Amino acid sequence: MERDIARLAAPVYDVVVVGGGILGACIAWDAALRGLQVALLERGDFGAATSANSLRIVHGGLRYLARGDFRRMRESIRERSALLRIAPTLVEPLPVLVPTEELGTRSRAAFRAVLGLNDLLSLDRNRGLTPERRLPAGHLISLEECRRRFPAFPSEGASGGAVWYDARLRHPEGLALAFVRAAVEQGAAAANYCRAHGPSISDGAVTGVTATDVLSGEEFSVRARRVVVAAGPWTPGLTRNPPAADDPSALPQAFALNVEIPGQRTDVAVGIRSRSGRRDDPIGGGNRYIFIVPGESTTLLGTWYAPWPGGDPEPLIGRGAAALVEEFRAACPGLVISSGDILRCHWGLLPLKAGRESGRPDALAAQERVIDHGAGVGPAGMFSAEGVKFTTARGVAQRVVDRVVTSLGLPRTRCRTVEVRIDDLGDTSKAPPEALLRRALREEMAVRLSDLMFRRTTFGLPFAAAPLTVAAVARIAAADLGWSPAREAAEIDDVMRQLRPPGPTVGPGG
Ligand SMILES: Cc1cc2nc3c(=O)[nH]c(=O)nc-3n(C[C@H](O)[C@H](O)[C@H](O)COP(=O)(O)OP(=O)(O)OC[C@H]3O[C@@H](n4cnc5c(N)ncnc54)[C@H](O)[C@@H]3O)c2cc1C
Repeated sequence: MERDIARLAAPVYDVVVVGGGILGACIAWDAALRGLQVALLERGDFGAATSANSLRIVHGGLRYLARGDFRRMRESIRERSALLRIAPTLVEPLPVLVPTEELGTRSRAAFRAVLGLNDLLSLDRNRGLTPERRLPAGHLISLEECRRRFPAFPSEGASGGAVWYDARLRHPEGLALAFVRAAVEQGAAAANYCRAHGPSISDGAVTGVTATDVLSGEEFSVRARRVVVAAGPWTPGLTRNPPAADDPSALPQAFALNVEIPGQRTDVAVGIRSRSGRRDDPIGGGNRYIFIVPGESTTLLGTWYAPWPGGDPEPLIGRGAAALVEEFRAACPGLVISSGDILRCHWGLLPLKAGRESGRPDALAAQERVIDHGAGVGPAGMFSAEGVKFTTARGVAQRVVDRVVTSLGLPRTRCRTVEVRIDDLGDTSKAPPEALLRRALREEMAVRLSDLMFRRTTFGLPFAAAPLTVAAVARIAAADLGWSPAREAAEIDDVMRQLRPPGPTVGPGG
């Protein structure tokens, strides 16, 4: 996987994809696998924006069951199985535990019925999965068992617990990168640190995009018959005329935040009802489940939502982190946390319904938005795609590529991304760190120190990296990439800024 800008500027591609988050990466992989000539541009590093900041749960859609939304539930079940099948080293089963109550819609009887129905609707969930990736049936457990599995289990008012199985992303950025790598191995041309400005248009139809190589400052054009903008929260800005590439607030968005605390406090994800009502939780609607999710050696707590006002995110990050800690202190006192425990805040922007789908306009969007702009007032050949979940990105990509293939007048080829494994790099766990770094630098397009620390390796995790470790990695990168001492120091500063507790942030553009 080589960062070859000259190659991007050379031929006429069938499609250029703007945005290398999980959705753009899946679109590029699917299109390349179907034989299209594909180019992919990412203005930062692959998977480093919203896709790096999820709660890492691959949802099987149990929540949709409660709303009677069987279509979305089946879609989530299918996509959860697909990820467990195609990326078994990066996605693993995750037990989820929630308290049951004595009476009402959260009683044991109610949960028994829900878990039974969930199992029935997901009878095919383990098709094609290796035994260690198969998801067992849901079941009820006693209060004692709840406390054994999660010692901080909030017992007040609980009659026991309900357990079902979803999946966990071990390293979301690694998964996005695996899709990009697979696309490139299939012939796609991809480059990180290339900012697209918007589509080039001639006679009412797209002819490609213009872009800037952020590393060299040079402008170039990518010629393509179709343009797909999959730039997450920046999509509405990029598809406006004229484009506003840096403006994520062209439409109302939700700010969403998780915090990460040290130590793996649980090996089962735990969902607890929050105490805040609608007034303090305008996006989520109040009294919803908040989750404690095991990381590799840390624990994630989330999610806090607020309307995104635009501008500087820092005040919102501080307010959200404090509010989230208070939520967990109230709902799960046994967890014993304070704001001082926060290692890192993960935040991102998510689309709202905003009148484009039914329901409260200030609630999180529930449906993907795939638009053929040429069918409206936009240029012919331009598509945009906004997903609502990491879980379902592969499926959204499939539908986007179906439309691109049809619009190109090509025969509809079968999508194979549900079956082709993408993470088969062999066992790197025993590879010496220097070998991993060299491979990342020479074969995986790592060009910044943060790419190496957080996305090509997990050396920057669990955020306890001493300056010496960061400096040692920086020295290897500097020697390989020919960095000046000043550049090396700036790269170290950038990583240390992201590691610094308690106010460091990873977020769009972070
Ligand atoms: C706090 C939080 C928790 C979440 N938890 C979960 C969860 O547990 N499970 C789940 O399934 N989903 C979860 N989600 C949702 C999920 O993370 C997102 O739906 C998904 O990551 C969006 O992916 P994307 O590729 O559309 O966007 P992004 O990851 O933002 O990718 C868009 C990319 O476009 C690039 N870009 C922007 N402008 C340009 C330009 N001009 N030129 C080139 N590139 C450009 C950006 O740099 C970015 O990398 C969560 C989200 C948040 C914020």
